[in-house]
Amino acid sequence: MSQTHHVVIGGGIAGVSAAVAMRQAGFDGTVTVVDAEPPLPYERPPLSKAENAEAALRPIFPEDHYARHGIELILGTPVRRLDGVRRRVELTGGWELPADRVLLTTGVSARRLGTPGEELANIHTLRTAADARHIFAGLDRGGPLVVVGGGFIGLEAAAVARTAGIEVTVVEAGELPLLGPLGPAVAELVTRAHRERGVRVLTGRTVAEYAGPGAVREVVLSDGERLPAALVIVGVGVVPNDRLALAAGATCHGGIAVDEFGRTDHPLLWAAGDVASRVHPRTGVRERIEHWDVAMRHGAAVGASMAGRPTADDTLPFFWSDQYGKTLQMFGRGRPGDRVVLRRDATPDRFLAFWLREGRLAAVAGLDEARTVRAARTILDTGVPVAPEALADPSTDLRALARRLPRPATVPAGGTAAAGPRTTGVADWPA
Ligand SMILES: Cc1cc2nc3c(=O)[nH]c(=O)nc-3n(C[C@H](O)[C@H](O)[C@H](O)COP(=O)(O)OP(=O)(O)OC[C@H]3O[C@@H](n4cnc5c(N)ncnc54)[C@H](O)[C@@H]3O)c2cc1C
Repeated sequence: MSQTHHVVIGGGIAGVSAAVAMRQAGFDGTVTVVDAEPPLPYERPPLSKAENAEAALRPIFPEDHYARHGIELILGTPVRRLDGVRRRVELTGGWELPADRVLLTTGVSARRLGTPGEELANIHTLRTAADARHIFAGLDRGGPLVVVGGGFIGLEAAAVARTAGIEVTVVEAGELPLLGPLGPAVAELVTRAHRERGVRVLTGRTVAEYAGPGAVREVVLSDGERLPAALVIVGVGVVPNDRLALAAGATCHGGIAVDEFGRTDHPLLWAAGDVASRVHPRTGVRERIEHWDVAMRHGAAVGASMAGRPTADDTLPFFWSDQYGKTLQMFGRGRPGDRVVLRRDATPDRFLAFWLREGRLAAVAGLDEARTVRAARTILDTGVPVAPEALADPSTDLRALARRLPRPATVPAGGTAAAGPRTTGVADWPA
C-alpha cells in the first residue's frame, strides 16, 4: 500500500463519487473525505422534493460502503486552510491532515441579498439538511409561505407546500420564473402549472423588506404590497465555495478554474462538481454547471484522473426537477439565439421542447415525457439536421427515428450542432 494521501474536501455527490473512483482506478494510498456538515454524506435533490424531513435526508451510500472502499470520513469539521508549502489541510479545531493531492468539491452556498429584516426567524435558504429540517418544521406549523426567487429549488418547495394545502406566493424579479434556463415558452407552461394549482406567482417584483417582530410576519414588496408570511424560503442563486482555493492562490473566476481532468493551476489542488469552472466539452464554454448528474460524473472522472487514470467527463449535461408528481428532464443547455420549438400538444402537465442551433438539436426538455426525451437525446448525439416543423408535430415518432439512426462514433468537442457528424437521417424527417 502506498503512503500517498488524497484528501477530498466536501462530501457531496462529487466528492464521494471521486473518492470511490480513486479506489476503482486502483489508488491504494489513503483517501480521506472531510465535510463541514455532521450527517453521513447525503443527497441534496430530495431536500426540496420530499414530503417530510425524514424522507428528505437520504444518504448517498450506507456507512459501511466507505469502510469497504477504504475511505475515511471526517464529518462535521470544516476545513479552515490549505498549506500548499507544507502540504497540509488544516481543519477547524486545530487538526491537520497530510495531503499529496487535494480535491476541492466544496459546492456552492445559497446567496443572501442583504435585504432588511433577512435575519428574522423563519426565513431560510435551502441548501443543507439543516435548512430542510427548519423548513419542514415551518411547514408543519402551516402557512402562508412566501418563496422568494422562482428557480428550480424555490418552485419545488412551492409545489411540496401547495400539495400539503399551504397558501403559497412566489415572488420572482424577472418576467417569469425559470426564464433563464428554459426560455419564455417553457417557463410560461411551468408558471401556469403552479398558478393552476393555486400558487400566486408575482413577477417583475422584488422584496424591499421582511417585517417582524422577532419572526417574519410580512414580506414587503418593491411596489409596497405586503404579503402575510409565516415562513419564507429564499432561493435567489448561489455563490461558489472557492475561498480555500483562492486563499491558496489557485485561479478562480466564478468558481475554481480547472482543465479537462479537474486540475487547477495550483500543483496540489484539483476541483470538481458545482464549485468547478471548466470548459465543458459538450457546450464549448467555460461555466459551472449545478446539476446532480454532472457533479456525480465530473467527480468520478476527476477522482480517476487523480488516481493516475486521466479521464475527461464529456457527458451531455442532464438535470431533472420534480413538481406536483411530474418530472421535468432536460439534456443539453439552451443558449441565447437558439430557436426553441414547443411540440404543438404542449400543456402545463405534459410537454416537449427542443432547442435548435444551426439546424441541429442542442437541447431537449420534457415534462412526463421520459422516453421521448431519451430518444431526442440520441438524435442530438448523432448531430443529424432536424426540421423544426417535424419537432413541433405531435405525430412525429422520435423514438422510431432514434432507433434508425447510426450510433455516433464520437461526440464532437464544442457542442452538438455545427461540429456534429454529418450522417444520414435528415431525409427521415417529414419536412
Ligand atoms: C435543494 C436542492 C435540490 C436539488 N435538486 C436537483 C435536481 O432535482 N436535479 C439536479 O440535477 N440537481 C439538483 N440539485 C443540484 C445538485 O444537488 C448539485 O448539483 C450537487 O449536489 C452538487 O454536488 P457537489 O458535490 O458539487 O456539491 P455539494 O452537494 O454542495 O457538496 C459540497 C459539500 O462541501 C462541503 N463543504 C463546503 N465547504 C467546506 C469546507 N470548508 N470544509 C469542509 N466541507 C466543506 C459542504 O458542507 C457540502 O457538503 C439540487 C440542489 C439542492 C440544494
